[in-house]
Amino acid sequence: EELTTDVVVIGAGGAGLAAATSANQNGAKVIVLEKMGKAGGNTAISGAAFNAVDTELQKEFGIEDSIDKHFQQTYEGGDKLADPELVEILVNNALPAIKWLESLGMEFEHKIFTVLGGMWPRAHDPEKVLGTGFIDTHMEYAEKSNGGVEVKINTNATELIKEGDRIVGVKAEGEDTDYVIKATKGVVIATGGFSQNKEMRDKYNKQWEDISNLMSTNHPGATGDGIIMAEKAGANLVGMEWIQLLPMGDPETGSLSGNIEQGVEDRIFINLDGNRFVDEGARRDVMTKALLEQKDQTMWTILDSHSYPTGDEENHFGETANELVKAGRAFKADTLEELAEMIGVDADSLVKAVEGFNKGVDEGKDEFGRTLFKDKIDKGPYYAGKRVPTVHHTMGGIQINTKAQAINAEGNVIPGLYAAGEVTGGIHGSNRLGGNALADINVFGKIAGESAAKGL
Ligand code: ADP
Repeated sequence: EELTTDVVVIGAGGAGLAAATSANQNGAKVIVLEKMGKAGGNTAISGAAFNAVDTELQKEFGIEDSIDKHFQQTYEGGDKLADPELVEILVNNALPAIKWLESLGMEFEHKIFTVLGGMWPRAHDPEKVLGTGFIDTHMEYAEKSNGGVEVKINTNATELIKEGDRIVGVKAEGEDTDYVIKATKGVVIATGGFSQNKEMRDKYNKQWEDISNLMSTNHPGATGDGIIMAEKAGANLVGMEWIQLLPMGDPETGSLSGNIEQGVEDRIFINLDGNRFVDEGARRDVMTKALLEQKDQTMWTILDSHSYPTGDEENHFGETANELVKAGRAFKADTLEELAEMIGVDADSLVKAVEGFNKGVDEGKDEFGRTLFKDKIDKGPYYAGKRVPTVHHTMGGIQINTKAQAINAEGNVIPGLYAAGEVTGGIHGSNRLGGNALADINVFGKIAGESAAKGL
């Protein structure tokens, strides 16, 4: 079947749907192609922490912050390997992106928190579970758009169509028919990363010794298709070797579900001998590298009733500690000694580890250099949950400029081609801070949609 529209968006995750809404708001008719059976991608299953300097709200919680600090932490947190112009765009447009989402009906909780490996309390939390709020907001916009935004699920984009230098459309395979879709204004690639593509991970990985056997937190569609299609069409790829691991994977599935962590300030990690081994407030790569060196590459997260006054509090996945305990996915005991016995670690070591942490709370710094503290771990019942390293995010991808236009190997814009979200590279350098992905996909998704609608 042959179709013609103004803008084609590949991928109905957070970045793609933001691009679709934004393109339509800028006057374009949009077709979104999604290869899976429903919209959402990784965005829908992510913790959904959204970093944005929001001084008014932060002040209410006694948090001091600035755009400059967000810039510095992002840039330095990625070892200064990001494109500073893109980081500028990210930090300056994060709060406006939240306001934009709110104008579309999305709701955020009245709170600010620090996300794991996020460096600073500036994360916003959507009302709806995980990242579903982002997806629902744009899908509702699409429904009400009188055909302005059409989302085709079970439709796998396979190739970009090029005429001369310009990208003019997309070939795709639907359930019953193949499509050739002409885009008079532009094509936005928003297919996400490649954490679920082991071959591609191994091809590009230089950072880690061996990640070939690790599982991933990602949805199964995160296979890097857009990167491959864009490269074929001449796009330059940047930062492909930087692959983010998290120390928080479920031992059975690699997913983030089952994580008993509530606040990152109040929990420690211990290895199978019962000893701490890293600053639990460090960068994600630092924590995971340390975990990879521990016995069985396995650890326990330990926390107390400061995090769970009743045990019925939910994590980001809507799971309560008590439910996880019942299901055998977490452990709960009145004393640290009993907890140690349950999880099979040396009780003296665990007690010592907790004492060391508590001393750190008093002194503001501990033997691992940790400075991220709030409450001591001294209030039973205590909880433990098992975690393993898992592949979470691929920092590299299609090179873009500040207008989300794709760039070729000569450094020139590829006319008609735009990219946004995890499929792009250059925004996070070697290490993406927790909470910056949601900011990234919304900021650059919105820009990509606008640029494409204008046919830049
Ligand atoms: P981001 O956070 O960058 O928006 P997501 O993972 O949330 O990334 O969304 C990417 C979406 O793109 C997913 O829903 C995924 O299934 C979809 N996708 C990936 N490859 C293709 C493809 N070849 N054709 C259509 N959709 C794709």
